[in-house]
Amino acid sequence: MMALLMSASTSSPALAPLRLKRREDRRTRAGHTWVFSNEVDALQTPLNAFVPGDPVEVQDHRGHFIGSGYVNPHSLICARLCSRDRHHPWSSSLIAHRLNVALALRERLFEEPFYRLVYGESDGLPGLVVDRFGSVLVAQMTTAGMERAKIAVIAALEKLLRPTAVVLRNDIAIRALEALPLYTELALGTAQDHVRLTEHGVDYDVPLRTGQKTGWYFDQRDNRARLARFAKGKRVLDLFSYVGGWGIQAAKAGASAVVCVDDSQSALEGAEHNAALNDVANIVETRQGDAFQLLQEFYSAGERFDVVVLDPPAFIKRKKDIKRGAEAYRRLNQLAMRVLAKDALLVSCSCSYHLPMDLLVKHMLTAARHRGREMQILELGGQAPDHPMHPAIPESAYLKAVFARLTV
Ligand code: SAH
Repeated sequence: MMALLMSASTSSPALAPLRLKRREDRRTRAGHTWVFSNEVDALQTPLNAFVPGDPVEVQDHRGHFIGSGYVNPHSLICARLCSRDRHHPWSSSLIAHRLNVALALRERLFEEPFYRLVYGESDGLPGLVVDRFGSVLVAQMTTAGMERAKIAVIAALEKLLRPTAVVLRNDIAIRALEALPLYTELALGTAQDHVRLTEHGVDYDVPLRTGQKTGWYFDQRDNRARLARFAKGKRVLDLFSYVGGWGIQAAKAGASAVVCVDDSQSALEGAEHNAALNDVANIVETRQGDAFQLLQEFYSAGERFDVVVLDPPAFIKRKKDIKRGAEAYRRLNQLAMRVLAKDALLVSCSCSYHLPMDLLVKHMLTAARHRGREMQILELGGQAPDHPMHPAIPESAYLKAVFARLTV
């Protein structure tokens, strides 16, 4: 089957059909790219006849072409559409084309080569994420179909960008949904422990193979830029700081003091390193520990901040975590509200798709009312445009950042 993927699209043999039941073509025809296993006509095209990652042609119940993509009989989302063009089916040349289109967007958006180059479905490459750190690429495959296309993806990236290294961070837990093993691999070039990137004129070294996610949270880029104008002369608390994404931006923008908090010591060592790299080591201080706990301690010790940034990990990863996760966001915002100085800014973020913006705002407002404070919402931010939203896939829009001013 790899041979099939590697062959030129024009000479590909017909793909095996995957037939949908009557009326089950509505979602895909309306723009979605997922097929669920209960939508497949199992009599005509039994799913167990496929091996995970097999290319398929998705058809409606009459056998009319919908598109092509790949299948995983063991996954609830049993197929993903990669193309709706009969003449350009799922193939290695389609992958190369999609990468080209993805690169063209980023080159239009950014002057420097630091960005998310591929964001899965939104870039027509379901199951693939690629982050670019100059000449180093970090890729992540989350589906069996994309895992199968690994060699084609790496070859296309090599041809497109001539990277010095391609690192695979295929150690993300959601791969379990597709029964894929977890591993990291240097797929091309020579390994480096760290890569350097520049964001709004601030330099960061980020750990490549041991770092979180693919190493850097590019999605917050525009929101970090929003922070700069509020930072001058202020005392800033960057909670869940990782290697100092927000805090060092604030320090460079003229903050009088910055405290970075994370429970990971190595993340904070990274933050200290990055502070020194940008000549703001004298302004940036780090505190290791649980953010909830430290917020209580700051409050009890009478420490107050003019700006507090809350950028926690996703507290709601799955639907079943909604109740517990929402409670964590509520508590966090309550605790943060108590350490805000007079006329202060609270930047409250959530990368949980399942926590809608209005609920995040509600938690902030409840916390403000509890403290008897008035709140103004100054800006609502989302993910940067190198994480384009897929108009038919609500899950592709996940990031929220609320900039609120607390007066009185
Ligand atoms: N703000 C960062 C990204 C944050 S990622 C940026 O802009 O780059 C979430 C971070 O929260 C991780 O670094 C993780 O180590 C840290 N973390 C997770 N749970 C925590 C907790 N309970 N207390 C403090 N830090 C925590």
